[in-house]
Amino acid sequence: MTSKAFDVVVIGGGVIGSAIAYFLSNRPDFTGSIAVIERDQTYEYASAPRSLGGVRQQFTTPENIKISQYTAEFLAEIGDLLEVDGDRPDVGFKKQGYLFLGTPGMEDGMRRIHDIQNRENAPVTLLDADAMAVKFPWLNLEGISLGSFGTANEGWIDPFALLQAFRRKARALGATYFDDEAVGIDRDGNKVTAVHLKGGETLSAGIVVNAAGYRGGKVAAMAGADLPVRPRKRSVFVVDIKEQIPGHPLLIDHTGVYWRPEGQYFVCGKSPDEDNDPEVEDDDFEVDHAWFENEIWPVMAERCSKFEALKVVNFWAGMYDMNLFDHNAVIGPHPEITNLFFANGFSGHGIQQSPAVGRALSELIVTGKFETLDLSAFRFDRIAAGEKFLEEAVV
Ligand SMILES: Cc1cc2nc3c(=O)[nH]c(=O)nc-3n(C[C@H](O)[C@H](O)[C@H](O)COP(=O)(O)OP(=O)(O)OC[C@H]3O[C@@H](n4cnc5c(N)ncnc54)[C@H](O)[C@@H]3O)c2cc1C
Repeated sequence: MTSKAFDVVVIGGGVIGSAIAYFLSNRPDFTGSIAVIERDQTYEYASAPRSLGGVRQQFTTPENIKISQYTAEFLAEIGDLLEVDGDRPDVGFKKQGYLFLGTPGMEDGMRRIHDIQNRENAPVTLLDADAMAVKFPWLNLEGISLGSFGTANEGWIDPFALLQAFRRKARALGATYFDDEAVGIDRDGNKVTAVHLKGGETLSAGIVVNAAGYRGGKVAAMAGADLPVRPRKRSVFVVDIKEQIPGHPLLIDHTGVYWRPEGQYFVCGKSPDEDNDPEVEDDDFEVDHAWFENEIWPVMAERCSKFEALKVVNFWAGMYDMNLFDHNAVIGPHPEITNLFFANGFSGHGIQQSPAVGRALSELIVTGKFETLDLSAFRFDRIAAGEKFLEEAVV
């Protein structure tokens, strides 16, 4: 079978892989060739279209807050930046904020986190129960004493529209998408040299980027690298309460149950504790309906009586690309296999991090360093060193 040569081969053409292909192909100082290998051009089982598309400023580390600030900047200009043939993408950013609800026992922690957000100029305000009762009169605040609310650049987007916009622009700028699956990676000492495709082709590669989402651990293993990224299943439900609640934010209850409006409906979910979040096969998309009945619905109905009577109108399961080491991204080259790059392990916040990650990878590939945001805290070798990146706001 034929063999083609590319300067950069990106494995995975999802929102992250396509963001990397866009930022790289858009750089005037990059004149190389880019291949993006995508095993499913419909993206049926990719995480992006199954996600909630949440975009928030409310992280607890300067790095993640700065990433989100760039996301906001990027989204404000996305129509210009990703325009193709006069078609300006619109990802429908609904800036209705995130509202984290806290109990009296959580107040100290919330105030400490708020100080970090303040120092980074994140537009977040703390609301006491009286203020919340005025702003969100439909909320039952029993047991809740404090809310943390994002006042700007927070809410949700259409995640599939973002993926498609990156992909379309990357292709327009010259990236070649392969409708195929990467099944093997050749290595010569501390370099990767080629990627084998299921269809039989081999692409020789100057640089390989792992952007395979929840399959990132499997792709790393093809090159002999140990990346602790595994799929973790999340069930999502769409409910109809026959009315809309104007100004409803993306609400995160202290129990971890979250929900937000979606058109005339609401979408909701809850991540399990780490101890109840088992390893799953990467094709196991069976929805856990008992999770909704027992864990999600009772909390929603208690917080807001409008949810006492509802109809589930849709549901699906999707995979988090979970970094089992510290639930945060792995960004940059492998310490020994120096032309193998990673953009993996986003653990439930990869949609909103895709612009900054795409830009960062393009900087590393072309110049060997971070030029804008220093994302070295996410380096691969923190795993071997046992240095966890501690982000408290992983939903
Ligand atoms: C229920 C749910 C809710 C979420 N909510 C949010 C949210 O509110 N905000 C947020 O920011 N993030 C959210 N996420 C997380 C977000 O969806 C992911 O972090 C993000 O999609 C990761 O992007 P990706 O491109 O790495 O992975 P994906 O979107 O999964 O794309 C990876 C692509 O790689 C391809 N691929 C894999 N292996 C190979 C191979 N060997 N060869 C070729 N192609 C391959 C796949 O087909 C896929 O298209 C959520 C996820 C889920 C499941």
